[in-house]
Amino acid sequence: MIVLKFGGTSVGTVENMRKVADIVSNTYGVRIVVLSAMSGVTNSLQRIIDLIELGKNNDAKIEIENLNKKYLHTVYDLFGSGNRFKESSLRISYFNDVLLSFLDKDYSDQLVREILAQGELVSTYLFQTLLEENHENSKLISALDFMRIDSSGEPVLDDIGDNLFTILQSNYNVDIFITQGFICRNSNNDVDNLKRGGSDYTASLIGAALAVDEIQIWTDIDGMHNNDPRFVENTFSIEEISFDEAAELAYFGAKILHPQSIIPAKERNIPVLVKNTFNPESPGTLIHDKAKVKKIRAIAAKDNITAIKIKSYRMLMAYGFLMKIFEVFEKNETAIDMITTSEVAVSLTIDNTEKLDRIIEELQSFGNIEVETDLSIICIAGDLAQNKKGIISAIFNCIDQIPIRMISYGGSKYNLSFLVKTADKISVLNLLNDGLFSDLKKVESKKELV
Ligand code: ADP
Ligand code: ASP
Ligand code: MG
Repeated sequence: MIVLKFGGTSVGTVENMRKVADIVSNTYGVRIVVLSAMSGVTNSLQRIIDLIELGKNNDAKIEIENLNKKYLHTVYDLFGSGNRFKESSLRISYFNDVLLSFLDKDYSDQLVREILAQGELVSTYLFQTLLEENHENSKLISALDFMRIDSSGEPVLDDIGDNLFTILQSNYNVDIFITQGFICRNSNNDVDNLKRGGSDYTASLIGAALAVDEIQIWTDIDGMHNNDPRFVENTFSIEEISFDEAAELAYFGAKILHPQSIIPAKERNIPVLVKNTFNPESPGTLIHDKAKVKKIRAIAAKDNITAIKIKSYRMLMAYGFLMKIFEVFEKNETAIDMITTSEVAVSLTIDNTEKLDRIIEELQSFGNIEVETDLSIICIAGDLAQNKKGIISAIFNCIDQIPIRMISYGGSKYNLSFLVKTADKISVLNLLNDGLFSDLKKVESKKELV
C-alpha cells in the first residue's frame, strides 16, 4: 500500500490533473491519494474570509463567483459535455451554494475553518470523477470521516488508524482511494484543519496510521534541495536524507514540507519519497533511516521570528528561574524555537506573536524585557556532531560580515541554527551556498564537507 500526495500546482489545471491521473494509474498496489486544493484556491478562500470579517460581503460574493467560474471551466475542460459534465456541473453549483450560504452567517473561528475546508473537497471530487472517466477502480473517501485532532490540535493517530481501517475493510475491492489533505475534525467533532501546507501532514499521518510501504509527496520541484530555490540560484536536489535532517529542515522553513510532516513517518519508519509531478523520471529525494551521512546536507530559513530578551540580575545563580520563564510561554500556549542564556540574561525566539503583549506583561516581573522583530532563523542540517572538526568555522567563515543575533548548536547533532535580521536572510543563504556547496576554489574543503 502506498500513499501519494499531490500539492496545489499538481492539481491546479486540467492538464496537470491528467498528469497526476497518469502517475496514479501507473503506480502498483492499493493507493491512497491525498490531494491539496487547486493552486490559489485556499488563498482565495482566505480572501473571502477576510472580506467577510470586514463586512464586505459583496466583494466576498465576487470572489466566490470567480472561484465558481474557475471550477466550471475546469469541469468543461475535463469532461466537455455529456452526462459526466452535467453531473459535475451540478455538483459544482452545490459547492458554490455552500460557499454563498456562509455569507449569511456571523463571522467566527468555526466559519473560518468551514470555509477553508472547501478547496480540498472540490479538488478531490473533480479528480475522482476524472479517474472514473478513465475507468479506474477508485473511491472518494472523506478525510472528515477519519482524520482527527485533539483539543491541543495534535493528531490522534490511533483514532485515525482505526477509522481508516474500518473504511478500507468495507471497501476491500477498491484499488485507489482519493481523499482530502489538510482538513480534519477536532475534539468537538467540528471541521478543522492541520494548518497551511497541511496536506503533507495528512499524507504522513495516513501512511503512519496504516503502516504503508512508502509515502510519496509529489510537488513542483525535483525533490528537496540543498537550499531554498526561491532565494538561491544553483541549488541542487538531494538524493537521500535522514528523517532527522528532513524534520529539522521542514520545521525551520523548507516550504516543500509542512513543518510537522516528517514526524509520523519517522516514528513508524516509513520512507518518504519526494517527487516532481512535472518530471516523474527524476529520482527525487528519499527520506529514510539509512541515508548516508553528510556533514552539511542543506540550509533552510524561517521568517517572522521575534526575539525576546529577559535581563535580570536575580538570575545569577538562581535555580528555577528558567522554569518560571517557560511557564509564562506555556500558559500563553506559545512555542519557543531557540534559546540562549548568559549569566544575567535569557534570549529566546517565538514565531507566533498572537499572545506577545500578554507574554511581555507577565515577563516584566522578572526583569528588563527587550523585543526584536523581523528576524529569521537560518538552519543548517547535516551530521554536525561535536567531534567533526572544522564544520563550525567553515559555516561562520562564509558569513563573517553578517551580524548574528543568536546561535544554537548542540541541541541535536543534526542542526545548527542562528538568528539574523530578515533583511540579511537572502545574503546569508547565498553566502552559505557559495561557501559550503559550490565554491570551486574550495573543492578540497567541499569534498571534506559534503
Ligand atoms: P505543494 O503545493 O506541492 O505542496 P509547495 O509550494 O508547498 O508545493 O512546496 C514546493 C516549493 O517549496 C518549491 O516550489 C520551492 O519553491 C519551495 N522550497 C523551499 N525550500 C525548498 C527546498 N529546500 N527544496 C525544494 N523546494 C523548496
Ligand atoms: N490547501 C492547503 C494550503 O494551501 C493545504 C495544502 O495545500 O497543503 O495551505
Ligand atoms: Mg505544500
